[in-house]
Amino acid sequence: MTLGIWIFGDQLSLDHGALASVAPQRVPVLLIESLAYAQQRPYHRQKLVLVWSAMRHFAAVLRAQGWPVTYAVAEDFETPLRDWIARERISELRLMRPNDRPLQTWLEGQDLPCDRRWYSNNQFLWSAAAFQTWIQGRKRFLLEDFYRAGRRKFQVLWGADGPLGDRWNFDQENRQTYGAYRKQKASPPPPLTFRADGITQSVIARVRSTGVGGYGDLTENFAWGVTREQAWQVLQYFLSQQLGQFGSFQDLMVQGQAVLWHSLLSPYLNLGLLHPQEVIAAAEEHYHRGAIALNQVEGFIRQILGWREYMYGLYHHWGNTDSDPEPNFFQHHQPLPAFFWDHRQTEMNCVRQVLAQTEHTAYAHHIQRLMILSNFALLLGVEPREIRQWFHSAYIDAHDWVMQTNVLGMGQFADGGRLASKPYVASANYIHKMSNYCETCCYQRQERLGSQACPFNYLYWDFLDRHREPLQNQGRMGLILKGLDRLTPQEKLQIHHQATQLRQQLGGKTSTEMKGDRDV
Ligand code: FAD
Ligand code: SF4
Repeated sequence: MTLGIWIFGDQLSLDHGALASVAPQRVPVLLIESLAYAQQRPYHRQKLVLVWSAMRHFAAVLRAQGWPVTYAVAEDFETPLRDWIARERISELRLMRPNDRPLQTWLEGQDLPCDRRWYSNNQFLWSAAAFQTWIQGRKRFLLEDFYRAGRRKFQVLWGADGPLGDRWNFDQENRQTYGAYRKQKASPPPPLTFRADGITQSVIARVRSTGVGGYGDLTENFAWGVTREQAWQVLQYFLSQQLGQFGSFQDLMVQGQAVLWHSLLSPYLNLGLLHPQEVIAAAEEHYHRGAIALNQVEGFIRQILGWREYMYGLYHHWGNTDSDPEPNFFQHHQPLPAFFWDHRQTEMNCVRQVLAQTEHTAYAHHIQRLMILSNFALLLGVEPREIRQWFHSAYIDAHDWVMQTNVLGMGQFADGGRLASKPYVASANYIHKMSNYCETCCYQRQERLGSQACPFNYLYWDFLDRHREPLQNQGRMGLILKGLDRLTPQEKLQIHHQATQLRQQLGGKTSTEMKGDRDV
């Protein structure tokens, strides 16, 4: 029997389940850089450079360890896969289960001339089986319950018989406002950046010459890390420079400051260059060295041990397939405004800033994604599929498993509350509280009506009014809907009129029009 291993572009770990199944034996390994896969949607060019460069660097690491690696730069997956199986006379292909279902579905549909053996995906803390055990028999799948179970199971920030500091949650100390940031005169460190080496430069040249990727800036100054060593440096930098303020300012937004105290770790975690366990252990160790306060480290660990694992577990538990109709709880059908693809086309300062930053870096932090871009799309009534495709195209860390839960569930409430207990919507009030974007905006953050009124305001009230019926069944909406009751019928009508006008004005360019739009 001749064994062979195919490693996907987001499984770049030496602990890969299929590699571990044969080690220390060295068997043929395949990596494929497929142009067709990259052409599925108008990806940010930096995302493509990151993935392909990280794959090429990983192939070099494997070769240095003695693995016979075939690295195929190809039009698609199928041709080089079949050629390699024939050439190497592979009789058993070993694979680790993909993170994303579309790839799994595609693979299952392939009639290959060899056996296939699957290994469990080991890039998360909770295995699929352990997640199933946790979820079975539960009526509610609250993040908080799952997070506490994770703290207990993995003994993270764990005292003698309970959570350290006798508290699970430090939200009260965390999430400080822009006003608190200014008062403290806090000063965020610059993000750690890297110089593009020869391998990365050749990938940049390939992305340019093939014209693949339909969005975002790409210069020779590409600054993301592309190896495990660099990912590890980003983690160390985060621990020493940023973690100390992470919790306090995790919801803050400051014009001209893309990163603040966020970690920038998601691309590396999602490609397998870092494992969540080692990130959590490093953060915990840093805390025990007495370097930072408990609320800061708890706020960070909650993101990885809580949110990240929870989103991944639910994605596989719910198991939507591509043939299922896209959830659309509010029946929203507005096209995505063209300015999502070009920040210069909007005057809304908050939206413009986050979009400009996304074009330059392929990154925005959580609150920018959730409370500026996704919030605006939901208030406007954009078709969930359109905004999902945009997020999937635009961000350096985007993968199918993150889209279904974060964009459709958390961001758009398209699943009708399966994931979130209420829609994440807000008017200018919230944006002003958490940022300084409104200070230099041409719109008036306190106005609800009229040509100078902030669009977030009238869209917000119109959203609540249009969807009052389904919303009043969502437990946590009661107080918010009481605010709506204070508006007169005349005001509601004017608000609806202005919101409708805006919807009519904003033409849209779909991601299909931008460039192809197939889910592999
Ligand atoms: P930090 O703020 O430093 O957080 C630390 C880590 O926690 C992140 O690196 C990430 O691995 C993890 N994390 C925190 N929240 C989540 C979450 N909800 N889901 C998954 N991981 C989480 N995350 C992605 O990895 N890829 C995406 O494409 C993506 N798209 C998103 C779209 C929307 C609409 C929303 C609301 C969230 C999205 N997220 C996504 C989650 C989160 O915004 C990013 O993980 C985070 O901004 C990445 O930046 P960071 O590494 O600096 O994060
Ligand atoms: Fe955004 Fe409105 Fe504030 Fe302008 S006024 S920055 S559009 S929230």
